[in-house]
Amino acid sequence: MTPMVDLQVNGFAGIDFNQDALTAEQLHRACELISAHGVEAILATIITEKIEVMAHRLENLARLRESDPQARRIIAGIHIEGPFLSPEPGYRGAHPVEAIHSANVDEMQRLLDATRGLTRVVTLAPESDPQYRVTKMLAGQKIVVSGGHCNPSLDQLRAGIDAGLQMFTHLGNGCPMQMSRHDNIIQRVLSQADKLWLCFIADGVHVPFFTLRNYLKTAGIDRCIVVSDAMAAAGLGPGRYNLSRWEVTVDQDLAAWAPDRSHLVGSAITLRQSFTNLTTQVGLSDASALRLTSTNPRLAIGLNPSSTNG
Ligand SMILES: [Zn+2]
Repeated sequence: MTPMVDLQVNGFAGIDFNQDALTAEQLHRACELISAHGVEAILATIITEKIEVMAHRLENLARLRESDPQARRIIAGIHIEGPFLSPEPGYRGAHPVEAIHSANVDEMQRLLDATRGLTRVVTLAPESDPQYRVTKMLAGQKIVVSGGHCNPSLDQLRAGIDAGLQMFTHLGNGCPMQMSRHDNIIQRVLSQADKLWLCFIADGVHVPFFTLRNYLKTAGIDRCIVVSDAMAAAGLGPGRYNLSRWEVTVDQDLAAWAPDRSHLVGSAITLRQSFTNLTTQVGLSDASALRLTSTNPRLAIGLNPSSTNG
């Protein structure tokens, strides 16, 4: 089977990438196990915190990767999710509201510098990016700008796309349980599916399998990507784990819940388990499941089809 590529990985096998003191041994071990689970490349994902905390974590991660050949092979780049997201409840999900704010070029540049050129995807809220300046800046550097944890109007979404928005992060999540039945973020994004890569989490909890089937049919397999959004529990199973400042409960369903179960905070699924769900629960062929977990994520971030060294 062609090795898979996972564009959103917050941690793996008990190791949280979103910690201040991530060690070389931890990163090496996580990369070894990610590889053992059939994944050839990932984007290590750092989520919203105060800018200086994010910059420190990104810098540490990039530095550790640099000195470890295994980490260099597996970590094709970094996905920065936040802090320029919607502060509204439901949309912000697990991202701490006091660290969320409007996008600005200087802070974005500080985060990019911290990753030493490794940033491949940035998730932001188009409506929190005044004049779409950060979107344009990132697109100009060939960094994929992905909408997520956001609620732009259709006009704002279209303007974001015109400015360089190319992707949407975990569609069907990062939004409230209850929304307007017709004009909501999911329908708006689906209406633009010919212009965006749509990413989904295929654990059956973030999006029920029948709903995922509907989304895939509407957007078409060629526009869709499956990510794990895995946190430290991935590869281990139910229990209590950390994701950044959160202690997370992982149930039998392998979804990671906030302590009060008010919202999901990542998954504990691996991409290989996601692939199995796609073929056994969603009813896709192996070829289609491979498009979602290998071909399309490579295309989206411009990763060589046969090699991750880039
Ligand atoms: Zn998210």
